[in-house]
Amino acid sequence: MHHITVIGGGFAGLTAAITAAEAGAKVTVYEAHHTLGGRARTTAGPYRTNEGPHALYAGGPHWTWLRQRDLIGPLASLPPLEATRLRLHHHGALRRTPPFPLLKLLRRRTAPAPVDTDFLDWATTIAGEEGARAAAHYAAVALFHHDPGSLSAAFVQERLRRATTLPPEAHYPRGGWGTVIDRMAARATHLGVRIETGSRVDEPPENTPVVVATALPAAGRLLRDDTLTWPSGRTVLLDLALRTRRGDAFAVSDLDAPGWIERFTAQDPSLAPAGEQLLQGQFPVGPGDTRADALARAEHLLDLGFRGWRERVTWRREAVSDGRTGAVDLPGRTWRDRPALDRGDGIYLAGDQVAAPGVLSEVSFNSAVTAVSLILGRPALDLKHA
Ligand SMILES: Cc1cc2nc3c(=O)[nH]c(=O)nc-3n(C[C@H](O)[C@H](O)[C@H](O)COP(=O)(O)OP(=O)(O)OC[C@H]3O[C@@H](n4cnc5c(N)ncnc54)[C@H](O)[C@@H]3O)c2cc1C
Repeated sequence: MHHITVIGGGFAGLTAAITAAEAGAKVTVYEAHHTLGGRARTTAGPYRTNEGPHALYAGGPHWTWLRQRDLIGPLASLPPLEATRLRLHHHGALRRTPPFPLLKLLRRRTAPAPVDTDFLDWATTIAGEEGARAAAHYAAVALFHHDPGSLSAAFVQERLRRATTLPPEAHYPRGGWGTVIDRMAARATHLGVRIETGSRVDEPPENTPVVVATALPAAGRLLRDDTLTWPSGRTVLLDLALRTRRGDAFAVSDLDAPGWIERFTAQDPSLAPAGEQLLQGQFPVGPGDTRADALARAEHLLDLGFRGWRERVTWRREAVSDGRTGAVDLPGRTWRDRPALDRGDGIYLAGDQVAAPGVLSEVSFNSAVTAVSLILGRPALDLKHA
């Protein structure tokens, strides 16, 4: 019987642990924090905020895998009236409909975008520069990057498609992603996985294969390997609770610059006390920008989409998420160029900035499953049908 050590008890670590235990391995998970989940933790309340994921994309491999194991749980659905309250900030005003040139980039027959060109250059040939910029900024909802147009066209196109598919791919676990993590932890325990929380590993053990399922900078420190880097986003996160007012936007996407605000209680009222709404905004910060610049953009969109919000605030929190929003690929590079999973000497990486396909947490999922299959020497799962 294989004995596998997993370092990190976030989405990647729990996926690796369950996959290995299902294949008959004896698994121990070490998690530094006193609770599991990593970036997918949901705070206890009264405002149930997520640092990281809100949306679970139904088109991803993790969706079927979680579903087959009954780990998703109840989903929050967006009432049709709320769905009509998506607003687009374009040319300084809020609009209900996207600019026509942007739609050209969403047509099914649009050719696959090239890897080697940046998105802005490629998209400009189809939609003109203004349409291309608007599309790049819309895609920032899944990119968290200050200049999405400068990234690989193929990379941005995939995210733009996933974020605009109809019916929408984004689903919301009721009560936040933390509820999915709780179910995964219960499944792992049921399969006999030993989980040690409050247990930071400073030196990977040598007697078992190890899956290092931490964020990439932490993996670099643990393995003393300064080549373990890959670009990611830097974004201001603004969490707000507001007293309810009818007519608030459901979400506001900034097409003039990257930025997004969503009222998550529109689909899941359980995230805030009765009579209050919970919002999160993400506003990427470029190298020449300050946190205050990003917050000013956030507050401007709030002024437009959430009338009287300043007088309605019951709770507010600001943070900067730096390098924690998953990999971004520059022109000429794909997920295959990111740090390889197999580091030699029985050490494997899993996480959202390593060499595995997918959008955001799907990279963590795919890398975790692949790392386990490499350890076991056989496919742990056919990802095409996962
Ligand atoms: C603002 C934001 C929004 C996002 N939105 C979405 C979204 O809507 N949909 C989506 O799919 N994804 C989203 N993501 C991405 C998603 O959050 C991550 O891809 C995913 O949570 C990463 O999981 P992970 O297990 O790879 O890493 P982590 O969640 O970072 O887990 C790593 C774990 O390792 C532990 N650890 C670190 N060092 C050690 C050590 N030495 N010993 C033991 N334990 C250690 C950490 O405490 C942590 O719990 C978002 C991310 C952010 C920041």
